[in-house]
Amino acid sequence: MRVHPWNRALWDRLVQERDRLPHALLLHGMAGVGKRQLAVNLAEWLLCEAPGPEGGCGRCRSCGWLAQGSHPDLRLVEPKEDEAEGEKVKKGKRLISVGEVREVLDFLALSAHQGGWRVVIVAPAEAMNTAAANALLKTLEEPPPRVMLILVSHQPRRLLPTVLSRCRKLPVSPPDRDTALAWLAEQRLEDAEQMLREAGGAPLLAMDIADSERRGWRDRFLAALAGPAEQDWSELAQAMQPRLTDAWGWLMRWVCDLIICHSGAPARYFPQHAAALAGLAGRADTASLWTLYQELQTAGRWLHHPLNNQLQLESWLLRYASLEARK
Ligand SMILES: [Zn+2]
Repeated sequence: MRVHPWNRALWDRLVQERDRLPHALLLHGMAGVGKRQLAVNLAEWLLCEAPGPEGGCGRCRSCGWLAQGSHPDLRLVEPKEDEAEGEKVKKGKRLISVGEVREVLDFLALSAHQGGWRVVIVAPAEAMNTAAANALLKTLEEPPPRVMLILVSHQPRRLLPTVLSRCRKLPVSPPDRDTALAWLAEQRLEDAEQMLREAGGAPLLAMDIADSERRGWRDRFLAALAGPAEQDWSELAQAMQPRLTDAWGWLMRWVCDLIICHSGAPARYFPQHAAALAGLAGRADTASLWTLYQELQTAGRWLHHPLNNQLQLESWLLRYASLEARK
C-alpha cells in the first residue's frame, strides 16, 4: 500500500533523512489519519532490498514477506483480538502485556535475518501497560545497531514521559477537507461528506464509521438518544456492551452537538438528527450538558482498561436522560 496522499510531505522528509534517522520514532495524532499505515510504509522501505523514494519496491523477497505479514525482521506489537471471542469489538479493550514486549526484546537480541534493519512497530503505544513500557524503555535508551522502533499513538500524553523523551515525535495531521473527500471518492465511499464530518476530518475513521455493521449499531444508539423519553436505558446499555468505545464516542459527539445547538448553531456531527437535537437542546440545562461532556472526555483516558462496560454506559445514559428533567 502506498503512502496516503496527505502524509506525503512527512514521508518525503523522512526519506531524505535515511542515513540520519533516529532509532525511535513516535507517530502521533488523532485516530484515523494513517499513522499505522505510515509506520508499515517506513518498515517496508527500510527492509526492502531496492527501496526508492516511493517506498518499498514491492517485488523483492523482503517486500513479499512483508505483504504476507511474515517478515522475519519485523515485529508488529498490537493488542491482540481475543480469539475465544472472535470479535473485532474486543480489540480496543486489550492491553499490550510485558510478555509481548519481552518477546520483542528477545527478537532484538538476535541479529537480523537479512543482515540489515530490524523494525518494531508498537500500535497504539498507549496500550502498553506500565510494566510493558518499562521493559521497552531499556531498548529505547540503548538500542542495538540498525534497529528502528516505531511507536504509534493516538494519545501520546498517556505514554510514560521517559518513553516520550526517547523518541523523535512526528505529528501526523488530518488532511484538509478537499484532499480527504478526493481520497474517499477514490475509495468509493458513499455519503462521504457525512462520514468525514462524523470522523472529525479523519479519512480512515470515516471509512471505519461507514462500515455497515457499525453503522447499524450507531443508528440504533442515536435513535435511542433522539427519543430519550421511551428508552429502557438498562436494556440499551446491555445491548451496547460489546461496543462501549463506539457508544462512548457517539454519546460524546451527541452531547457536543446538543451544546452547539443550544447556542443556536447547526449540529456538527449529526445534522441528520437536527430536529431531535434542536428539541432536546431547547429543554436541556447547559451546565449539566457541559459537566457530562467533560466527564465523557475524561473517560476517554481509561476506556482501554477492562471495566464493567455495561454499568458504566448505563450510568452515563441515566445521566443523559436526567438532563432534561433537571431544568
Ligand atoms: Zn522491495
